[in-house]
Amino acid sequence: MNFFSTRGGIRGHLLSEALRLGAAPDGGLFMPEALPRHDAAGFDPESPLATFAAQWLRPLFAEDSLAPELDRICAEAFTFPVPIVMPDETRPRLHALELFHGPTGAFKDFGARFLMSCFDRLAGAEPLTVLAATSGDTGGAVGAAAEGRASVRAVILFPKGRVSPFQERQLTCWGDNVVAIEVDGDFDDCQRLAKAAFADSALSGRHRLTSANSINLGRLLPQAAYVAHAAVRLAASSGATPGFIVPSGNLGHGFATLLARAMGAPIGPVVLATNANATLGDWSRGQGYEPRPSVATLANAMDVGDPSNFERLLALGVTPDDLVVEQVDDRCIADRIVQDYARSGYVWCPHSATAAEAFERLLPSARDERPCLAAATAHPFKFADVVEPLIGRRLEPSPPLAGIEGRPVRKRAIAPALHALRELLDAGPFPA
Ligand SMILES: *Cc1c(COP(=O)(O)O)cnc(C)c1O
Repeated sequence: MNFFSTRGGIRGHLLSEALRLGAAPDGGLFMPEALPRHDAAGFDPESPLATFAAQWLRPLFAEDSLAPELDRICAEAFTFPVPIVMPDETRPRLHALELFHGPTGAFKDFGARFLMSCFDRLAGAEPLTVLAATSGDTGGAVGAAAEGRASVRAVILFPKGRVSPFQERQLTCWGDNVVAIEVDGDFDDCQRLAKAAFADSALSGRHRLTSANSINLGRLLPQAAYVAHAAVRLAASSGATPGFIVPSGNLGHGFATLLARAMGAPIGPVVLATNANATLGDWSRGQGYEPRPSVATLANAMDVGDPSNFERLLALGVTPDDLVVEQVDDRCIADRIVQDYARSGYVWCPHSATAAEAFERLLPSARDERPCLAAATAHPFKFADVVEPLIGRRLEPSPPLAGIEGRPVRKRAIAPALHALRELLDAGPFPA
């Protein structure tokens, strides 16, 4: 299988090269040149996720040096459960796909662990430096996945004052090969800084930089696999093709869902739920794609004004007719958390609440027509500062999140400028 760049300047890369490079050198994003098409009937809904994922992803690894390792990579990455639960028995069509049972309590654990397992096999003698900009959850997942590996060092850029207290803790609590850098700016500044570092070929070469953001295809492939697995499972148990609702920011998750559908997963209508950031919603209403500065919301991991994976949607041939975008502002996020808790006792995180709200907004006929999977993207405890006052009780952490609370933390701080990041990297921020 070969991979091309969405900007058109590059073709014929193997998957390993695409993963090692992160973004394509022409500034685009890597995509497979041919879409493998599966017959979902050939997949056993009872098979464990790791087995299913290796089978689902095998054609994308064809001819690559990682192909013989794919089973082991999946076995290392998919080590925690992905339950499909019914949050409210009075709404039996609504299913939550709980993606938050991993080490840092958000779906980004899947992508980070899968990518690091690939890097273990690609790095060679010298470690790679994984640079990741984070709006809150990516950095924790990357730090947790990188900790203790000889093949990688991780440098995490996060926006000062824009992440929840728990998120900051889990950005800053990992071992010596992980450094968290607080950037005096917003998430878009962090993303710009990471891009500028990759574009500086001397800096990038000196530190063997690569990306662990969702511009790296290695983050998205495992997501397409768990999406397909969930769809096959729910289709088998319900006898109908489920719809999918995905809380969306940078559009990695949304792209992975559309990729899984294009590869033959039994998925009906796809709804992308956003917060008040309107870029995608306006595009879906036919107003063109107009990037803009991000606005801060309760669902902070989705505060994105220029989603980096949008060009992958276009490369997949997706048009506004192929999906629905629901925009959910902070008041509706808060109301949904309050109402669903009162109705059923189920607690959504602010991101997952956008999906629950999008389900409520479906026409009654669409709600009844088929089962629906709402991606529950993070554990509510990560956003206790938002959720606890709304539901009026304390939240309990999952066991892995409880483990994070006792760890020592450390961070560095810089201005949102490339020279500041360059100086910090060159000075060697990692303890010997
Ligand atoms: C990252 C994140 C999202 C947004 O996912 P994208 O792939 O960036 O669209 C939604 N919810 C949570 C909890 C996240 O961490």
